[in-house]
Amino acid sequence: MSFVAEFNSLPLPALEKYSLATSAAAARETLAKEKLSLADFAQLISPAAGQWLEPLSRRSQQLTRQRFGKTIRLFAPLYLSNECINNCKYCGFSRDNAILRVTLSLAEVRREAQALAAEGFRNLLLVAGENPRFVSNGYLTDCVAALHADWPSVSLEVGPMETDEYRPLTAAGADGLVVYQETYDRVLYDDLHTAGPKRNFDWRLETAERAYAAGFRRLGIGALFGLADWRREALCVAAHANYLLRNCWKAQFTISLPRLRPCAGEFQPLTHMTDRELVQLVCAFRLMFPDVGLVLSTREPAPLRDGLFPLGITLISAGSHTEPGGYTGAGKEKIHHTERGRIVELASGASEWAPVADRATNATGQFEIADNRSAAEVAKLLQNLGYDPVWKDWDAALTLSS
Ligand code: SF4
Repeated sequence: MSFVAEFNSLPLPALEKYSLATSAAAARETLAKEKLSLADFAQLISPAAGQWLEPLSRRSQQLTRQRFGKTIRLFAPLYLSNECINNCKYCGFSRDNAILRVTLSLAEVRREAQALAAEGFRNLLLVAGENPRFVSNGYLTDCVAALHADWPSVSLEVGPMETDEYRPLTAAGADGLVVYQETYDRVLYDDLHTAGPKRNFDWRLETAERAYAAGFRRLGIGALFGLADWRREALCVAAHANYLLRNCWKAQFTISLPRLRPCAGEFQPLTHMTDRELVQLVCAFRLMFPDVGLVLSTREPAPLRDGLFPLGITLISAGSHTEPGGYTGAGKEKIHHTERGRIVELASGASEWAPVADRATNATGQFEIADNRSAAEVAKLLQNLGYDPVWKDWDAALTLSS
């Protein structure tokens, strides 16, 4: 049975109701429990539990230090391409957005990776839009193979594939796969994904399982907060993680908590999650899943990130760019628009996200970064907080054969 079947029988409305009706006393009691059920998790993310943020944070911090030590791992996203055949209303790379696009060549990918290595990174996340014409499996496999020797850890955040399509990627050295469901609300998912293969909700929901079957041993899931109600999404992410921990037990898992950022297309968040609620959710995930990595990206502003680092976060990006070529300017000279899968000459002034046609600019980013500090600045901050910034967290030589 895949997670889809389990997901379809989740008593979501009842869990949501339970969460909203939780009393302060019940939430306080749940905080002290050793092992949590999904219903307990619903209590921890309840409005009532919001008043126990102090003790919740303390327990989360204590658990995190116990399981992960005073370390925080760093990774860098490297965008390979912003070509995409999907229309996701909330994403700057959506097919119909008139943005500046490019797909990096292998040499350009190497150049970007070298710049990141010079900053200290050893943990790379290759990100690309979904467009088989530009981002074929062969291209992705070549990228992984070109980087594998110098990078102890290469993960992918790309369009979902069949298990057999994933195999060449793991064989080439990719060890991690990240796939966010974006929203676990089927009706909203349908409304937000107006064109392209991503419209298939169930296919996406089973991606982590297919990746596991193909040999990926580090799997990342999450929801994009700002679409459906955050408590409902968090319950679904928790149920998904629960399922994967039971069924894909040889893998390590991470949960990301991205909140929507401004991007091309000017999509406005449909729901709001406050900073305080984000802190509550990070801590609730830690109590629910003491050994699961929690990821915080540069979508969040520096002061909030600094406050969250000690509370439960174990993996962060820093100094990130969300446009292909963002670290070195690689690919600038071939930036173009794409219409119906064809490259077309640039016309100037298409939108504020594609302002110049003189090719002196980088490609368009996926979204705006909120924490613009360099990786070195963030690493220094971590040290000042008493944490070891860990640049390398995996070595293929240490992998036990399975
Ligand atoms: S979210 Fe992913 S699939 Fe959707 S438009 Fe953006 S890059 Fe393409």
